[in-house]
Amino acid sequence: MNARLPLRDPNAPVGAIARACAESPDLKVSFEFFPPKNQKMEEKLWDSIEKLAPLSPDFVSVTYGAGGSTRERTHRTVARMVKETDFAPAAHLTCVDATREEIDEVAREYWNAGVRHIVALRGDPSSGIGEAYTPHPNGYAYANDLTEGLKKIADFEVSVSAYPEQHPESANWSVEIDNLKRKIDAGATRAITQFFFSPDIFWRFQDRVLDAGIDIPIVPGLMLQPNFKGLARMSKMCGVSVPDWYAGLFEGLEDDAITRDMLTATLAAELTAELRDRGVNHFHLYTLNRAEIASAVSRILGLHQRRNVEAVA
Ligand SMILES: Cc1cc2nc3c(=O)[nH]c(=O)nc-3n(C[C@H](O)[C@H](O)[C@H](O)COP(=O)(O)OP(=O)(O)OC[C@H]3O[C@@H](n4cnc5c(N)ncnc54)[C@H](O)[C@@H]3O)c2cc1C
Repeated sequence: MNARLPLRDPNAPVGAIARACAESPDLKVSFEFFPPKNQKMEEKLWDSIEKLAPLSPDFVSVTYGAGGSTRERTHRTVARMVKETDFAPAAHLTCVDATREEIDEVAREYWNAGVRHIVALRGDPSSGIGEAYTPHPNGYAYANDLTEGLKKIADFEVSVSAYPEQHPESANWSVEIDNLKRKIDAGATRAITQFFFSPDIFWRFQDRVLDAGIDIPIVPGLMLQPNFKGLARMSKMCGVSVPDWYAGLFEGLEDDAITRDMLTATLAAELTAELRDRGVNHFHLYTLNRAEIASAVSRILGLHQRRNVEAVA
């Protein structure tokens, strides 16, 4: 027998994931951007920032090009964020091809510009990902050395990287976890992960982290790259496994950017839902300087509705 369905509360967020997330007051996102290369890219970045601002990210971060190639641009972008937005920006900084003095100077400039959070990284060699890395003879050799150096300069909040599928240069898990521990001992208080596609990969990593007694937040990084060929290439270089069925899902969509965007948002939202269900409350979104997918994922997480409720309260 047919019965009328109960009326929906018009103020409740739409969708099961959004409703559940709106009830998680501690849920957070952070957004990662890269420094723009030219005027057109600059306009696109600031347009994205404007669109994403209402989602009140916990922080935003700006990457540092291989070998320090974007030193000026990263600084300019982060400094403008401090001046013109309510964001708490974090500047990525790497050890590659620079002396300690040069890096210390960059860090001091950040502090003087009002930047209080650094994502401290070793970085990839300027010759490319996968090439042999040689520390600069007068530089910081690895991310733990950089973290220690930053803490001597000022009381920066320092985030570091973590690799749920191991960094390609780590011989085994014990080397990987020991490295993460060294970075924490040097002063890091948060780790942001390399991107991954299966929640199981994150759970297994989190178990290893917990077994090692590590208790800083491990924030999952989610890649929002809708270009499957580019994604597959980058994943291979970084030692990230892409599920077999992903290729089939994107097959034949080379000329259909809209469907690729929709798939990317849906897959990321599904991954966040699975992670959130087991207690993850912070997601770091690699936005690629685009607002649409990051905004969709954050809204499905209920962030937009929650901000509205906070504004009314
Ligand atoms: C969240 C995130 C953000 C990133 N942002 C950027 C960016 O803005 N710019 C950029 O160029 N790259 C960036 N990367 C990429 C990163 O620079 C590369 O993955 C790089 O290869 C490693 O940097 P790391 O800080 O993870 O290195 P580390 O943590 O220093 O470790 C790198 C490798 O060296 C090994 N190792 C550590 N200490 C020693 C030692 N004393 N002797 C021998 N081996 C050692 C570790 O086990 C590991 O295998 C980012 C990565 C992540 C996950």
